[in-house]
Amino acid sequence: MAIVKLPESVIMKIAAGEVVTGTFAVVKELFENAIDAHADKITVEIKDGGKTYIRITDNGVGMSEEEILLAVQPHTTSKIKDVNDLYNIHTYGFRGEALAAISRVSRMKITSKRKDDDVATSIEFVGSKPISTKKTAAQNGTTIEVKDLFFNIPARRKFLKSAAIEGRMITEIIEKFILATNVGIDYIKDGKLIYSISKNIPLIEKINTIFPETKKDDFFELNIEESWFKIKGFISHPRVTRNNRTAQIFFINNRYIRSGDLFAVFESGYGEMLESRRHPYGIVFFEIDPKEVDINVHPQKLEVKISESRIIYNKFKRLIRETLINKTTFRMSINVE
Ligand code: ADP
Ligand code: MG
Repeated sequence: MAIVKLPESVIMKIAAGEVVTGTFAVVKELFENAIDAHADKITVEIKDGGKTYIRITDNGVGMSEEEILLAVQPHTTSKIKDVNDLYNIHTYGFRGEALAAISRVSRMKITSKRKDDDVATSIEFVGSKPISTKKTAAQNGTTIEVKDLFFNIPARRKFLKSAAIEGRMITEIIEKFILATNVGIDYIKDGKLIYSISKNIPLIEKINTIFPETKKDDFFELNIEESWFKIKGFISHPRVTRNNRTAQIFFINNRYIRSGDLFAVFESGYGEMLESRRHPYGIVFFEIDPKEVDINVHPQKLEVKISESRIIYNKFKRLIRETLINKTTFRMSINVE
């Protein structure tokens, strides 16, 4: 078989496709950048499930013209400097790939102003090439618009799901950010304001907003602190359940994690208190010493490796059982039977 070196343009598009797996991945990366830029107010607007239009505005530190041009280059980041920093990451981003990847497969416009700049800089990119630079008036912070995702890779564009499905996936990502951050978040979908969350509102209120069928009293609070990890959050009364696991939302060091193990451990804590095929709500934050967690294993960062996960899982299960037994009448009914 003839082995050929792929042209750089093809390599770049393959790499972009690995970061930009769908419109939700664009929203996730841009939102994380806004948090990393210390924003406390973030507005997300999408149209057509993000396929034609995504805009994220933040009031964070902003970028100069030079910084904007650098930020869309591959492997440029302000967040780590060398390999040692990889083991002590306090930001969402660190690969320096997202803006480069997104700009390569869309029409992107970045408008940004640092607080000491007199005017904002606005640069338009098509397929990562800057096509115009303007000085404009704008608030402090950054606005990134992403239009026509995969316009230059029709084969990939075809693989985007329907606007309804892509849009739902974006809404789910936004809900995770609402739960995991304390910033103000406005989320506008096809011209409709879906969420308007003020900063620093209590977690339980956010849970009741995202799951409007629930109320405060449906939940019990978890809050324990061990030497190298903490577990915090809210779990529902065993009778407050869904027929799927969409309300089981777990975060490790504030990153959303989808883990079959965690689903299983969570429900095993409820044990016989659950009716069959019913799934309780659990919005739980694990804070683990970063030295014990490797977030570098999955490019989408949905999976992590924990060196002593068994210890945490056992503690989690016991914590759920103790909480439910103390706070519900289930023990009585079980003893009577
Ligand atoms: P990473 O987040 O891994 O560093 P990105 O490609 O997402 O890589 O971003 C590259 C760089 O661009 C960031 O390190 C940051 O310096 C800058 N940047 C991106 N988004 C913003 C933003 N919203 N506000 C300020 N700076 C930003
Ligand atoms: Mg980033």
